[in-house]
Amino acid sequence: MQPEDALEKHFRLIPPQKAALKRLGIRTVRDLLYHFPTRYEQAGTETTSRELIPGAKVTLFGTLSGLKAKKLWKSRRNITEGWFEDASGRVKVMWFNQPYMASYVREGAPVRISGTVGGKGEKPYIANPEVEKISAVESAKGLFANNSEKEIDADAPPTNAYPIYPESRGITSKWFFHALRKVFAAGAHKQIDDPIPDDVRARLNLPDITTALIWIHTPEKDTHAAAARKRFSFEEMFAVQVSRALERSENDSEPAFSIIDAALYAERFLSTLEHKATSAQRRAIAEIIADFGKTHPMARLLEGDVGSGKTLVAAATSYAVVNSRPPNRASGTLQVAYMAPTEILAQQHFESFIQYFKHLPINIALMTGSGCKKFPSKLHKNSATDISRAQLLKWVANGEIAMIVGTHALIQKSIKFQHLAYAIVDEQHRFGTKQRHALAHKSEIVPHFLSMTATPIPRTLALTIYGDLDISVLDEKPPGRAKITTKIVNPEERASCYEQVREQLLDGRQAYVICPRIDEPDPAKINAMMAKSAKAEAARLKKEVFPEFEIGLLHGALKPKEKDNVMQEFSAGKIHILVATSVVEVGVNVPNATVILIEGAERFGLAQLHQLRGRVQRSSHPPYCYLLPESRGEVSMRRLKALEKSDDGFKLAEVDLETRGPGDLYGRQQWGISDLGMEALKNPRLIAAARTEARQLVTADPSLSQYGALKSRVVSASQELHQE
Ligand code: ADP
Ligand code: MG
Repeated sequence: MQPEDALEKHFRLIPPQKAALKRLGIRTVRDLLYHFPTRYEQAGTETTSRELIPGAKVTLFGTLSGLKAKKLWKSRRNITEGWFEDASGRVKVMWFNQPYMASYVREGAPVRISGTVGGKGEKPYIANPEVEKISAVESAKGLFANNSEKEIDADAPPTNAYPIYPESRGITSKWFFHALRKVFAAGAHKQIDDPIPDDVRARLNLPDITTALIWIHTPEKDTHAAAARKRFSFEEMFAVQVSRALERSENDSEPAFSIIDAALYAERFLSTLEHKATSAQRRAIAEIIADFGKTHPMARLLEGDVGSGKTLVAAATSYAVVNSRPPNRASGTLQVAYMAPTEILAQQHFESFIQYFKHLPINIALMTGSGCKKFPSKLHKNSATDISRAQLLKWVANGEIAMIVGTHALIQKSIKFQHLAYAIVDEQHRFGTKQRHALAHKSEIVPHFLSMTATPIPRTLALTIYGDLDISVLDEKPPGRAKITTKIVNPEERASCYEQVREQLLDGRQAYVICPRIDEPDPAKINAMMAKSAKAEAARLKKEVFPEFEIGLLHGALKPKEKDNVMQEFSAGKIHILVATSVVEVGVNVPNATVILIEGAERFGLAQLHQLRGRVQRSSHPPYCYLLPESRGEVSMRRLKALEKSDDGFKLAEVDLETRGPGDLYGRQQWGISDLGMEALKNPRLIAAARTEARQLVTADPSLSQYGALKSRVVSASQELHQE
């Protein structure tokens, strides 16, 4: 048996198994070996459903099944009932007034539940347990949590850990368990070359690949599983970092435009502004300007929460560029391209740049899918004029346009620059050196590159995804914003919360009510279910709480035209309360909306809550955010309290990473990092080590000629990460 052999060659597979393996991307013996358990079930060494003692606080790992919501007719309370099951047996679970529970978890999905055991001896039950889905890497006794630094303890007692593989219809954990036994017996795991070089492994005290494969699939001790998991999560992050370091070294071997006197121009620009730059803005500007003086192009990320003033940093540094001459020229200027994620934003930035640069003798242009503009117009010196795309392309190519703002229309092949020296990308576009080359369109010189993001992600994730970029952070907001009041509303405070909302509405403000997130494995069903819950909530509010106000409804099952209508009416103030589902991006800016109520708040990621909260921070009226959690587990409350305390999206992203399963981390899928890889992100030292080791290795051997196994691992890692 060889690692590259197709599984069919060694296993008799029935059609559902074949389909499941295909879905999981497992084709070869190697793929099988690299398909890791998500957790281990301990047979008999811990609390299981068999040994529940009433009154005890317990956390159990297993599955939920048969959940049904019904109404107790006497008290008219909602109750959801069902069964929790683990290897040792099952126990009844129930929730009061949480009818959505029945749709929250899929039948048979792995979960962790925590709660207090109720009932008497023979018939225990658990009421209102907190439920956490564990698609993420989890283990029965926090096997992997916080012990990644732990030494392997040879005397640790053996476990009866039974591996549980990622769930997939058609194939069981048991099948994997036995298939892998066979693979190990045949010795195929010994044929795999270790992608992590020996010296790196030694420095980090990681097991070699052969040992680690055995340990991760059939651990005899907790510590073995933990060491193996640490090793493979490092391996993934190391491969990513090597791929980033390769890109970086390519970048650093390119020549760059030199921008002379940049500091002077930036200073001059700042002195023309009404307000003072924050010290964070000054620091970022200085970092960029230092890069402008280097011999290779800048590759930098500017991270800053919404409203932290990234545009000003872009403007001050662009100002220096559009004041610079191209090399060996007596006239003309270097060019700047600014790419925005939407047409509306491109338009807005075009207007701000006109305000910033209108006294300069330069041309500024806008290019979007719906048309092109140029400032100044020939006839009216103070305004912009429509021009044809063909004309614009000509002027960009001959260098007459110094600054061009646009959507991703800017990266089309047809656009050529004369001297593109500085490319700025606002939000979400990851550009490698090659794409930057393409943007400059094969000019000899790669532009300085600044990527700006307001997506709050933890630092370890930023270092991973943007491993090839240097990072500047705006960790300070411009002064003078109304501070938001965020409050967790207890069940008995609901009525008084509604009264506070009413006060705001009577003052002429508007409110959002966000319905709980519904997790549902079938994406097709989500919209329908969410629509139903939003409709019910809107009707309830109208009937029982706010009969005197206009209530609007926004959900994903509406047609685009209907959504537009609702948003317009809300914008115009005809609707006072907008009940919306989280599936709907509440995209329009309605400054008069200053209150947001979030139902089922504990079911959102902190980053998402923070962004929802940002909807009501758009005016000088004081904003309010009310969080109405449905369950009040310890972890949930800790997370929501962080939100009460902090208005810093990046800090919240860190709390999110600490307190939620990494599988839940906002935007995870987008980055193509596995659950195991995400686990490494909780460990800043491991990420830092991956980065340092990768950079050292690439400096020593830029073609990876001595690292064949690593090279093929890197290729697959970088393909995954660029798939968006
Ligand atoms: P971001 O792009 O980071 O979300 P913006 O660049 O749009 O933020 O800035 C948000 C608002 O803050 C804008 O209205 C801008 O004019 C203002 N602003 C930026 N920097 C400052 C500052 N130093 N002092 C006062 N207001 C500022
Ligand atoms: Mg912005």
